[in-house]
Amino acid sequence: MHELGIVFSIIRDVEEVAKENRIDKVDGVRLRVGEVSTVIPYYLEDCWNWAVDRTDILKGAALHIDTVPAVTFCGGCQKTYPTVTYGKICPHCGSEDTWLQQGDECVIQEIEVSE
Ligand SMILES: [Zn+2]
Repeated sequence: MHELGIVFSIIRDVEEVAKENRIDKVDGVRLRVGEVSTVIPYYLEDCWNWAVDRTDILKGAALHIDTVPAVTFCGGCQKTYPTVTYGKICPHCGSEDTWLQQGDECVIQEIEVSE
């Protein structure tokens, strides 16, 4: 379970941005989490709730997760298809010359601050 490490690195990033912008209270953080990222949202939330209470800036901050659908691009026919349904083999042409275009990210989308 590496969710706690991810949570710590998100918190570190948010604290840095907050410091740069002279923000002393963050209400919430919105994340983009890819469908095939190795992050399990349920664990992430658990770790989040535990970790933010140990900070000053993020105490009680909510975590919002936007799921990004996984899309694979096919080098054979130049088309895209949903990764989760078809995996590595292109459903259009049967090629295995495919790679993930999006869907394995875990990035901060937005930091919510009350005025
Ligand atoms: Zn194809």
